[in-house]
Amino acid sequence: MLPIAHGYKHQVGIGQEDFSGGDYEICLSPTDQVLCDTRANTCGNNFRSLAEQKQVTDSARAEMAAQFNYTPLIWETPHYAGNQDTYRAAAESGFQFFTESDTMLYPNKFGYLNLAQGLIMNIPETAFDFQDNPTLIALMEPIKKDNILPRLVRLNAPYYTFYHNTNFEQYKSLVNVINKARTYDLWYPSVEEFGLFWKSRDQASVSADVDPFLKKITAGVNNVFEGLTLTFRLPDGASPGTVVINGSPAGSINKMVGGVPLVYVVLPAGTAAVVEVNYK
Ligand SMILES: [Zn+2]
Repeated sequence: MLPIAHGYKHQVGIGQEDFSGGDYEICLSPTDQVLCDTRANTCGNNFRSLAEQKQVTDSARAEMAAQFNYTPLIWETPHYAGNQDTYRAAAESGFQFFTESDTMLYPNKFGYLNLAQGLIMNIPETAFDFQDNPTLIALMEPIKKDNILPRLVRLNAPYYTFYHNTNFEQYKSLVNVINKARTYDLWYPSVEEFGLFWKSRDQASVSADVDPFLKKITAGVNNVFEGLTLTFRLPDGASPGTVVINGSPAGSINKMVGGVPLVYVVLPAGTAAVVEVNYK
């Protein structure tokens, strides 16, 4: 399990039963009592300056390094109540990712291609929040365990939820869902590892060429990393032949999906690769 930075004061946990999460650090509400939520439009444009926001993101990162001897890569804005400067501040503090609820699914509203301000990548909370009301917990827990969890697994998306430790029922419900995930060994990769994979994948580039006479598809790949997988779509009616990576014979996984022949090639670590897929 890896920590996510969720504000500086916001997550201190000095309240009753160690519950925090009541305050807004980035968004300035007219009074501390007014709910300040960008989605409910109660915040307006009442945000702290970039420099003040960076003090919050810097402090959060330094505090976690001091407390846990671990420097987190993921930032989550308290109540998601931030603006463009929040992503800039988090990136300048050294965070590589931010996370927001699935109601702000990527592309993020302040970004393009899933990078807010072109700087920092969103890892959405695909499974969103945990209820704190026991009636809602009883209603939602079976849905989370039996429907949402398997669907996200089929999508190769993480089952990623977020909650403040509000009460014991909520805690027990989270443990039930975690135990269900353990049954199927779904604990890996961590959210950070998942993010780092997507970052590496974004940096990889592929150029491809087809020679219909030699019946060969050639792909040149830059910024290769171990485990990067290429999918080759063969011409209709073709069947897979040999695969060669950097001049050496290699394996592949071949599948027919909806009548389309596909060849999956998993690359070894390296900086560049030339992959040849022959077909018949
Ligand atoms: Zn919070």
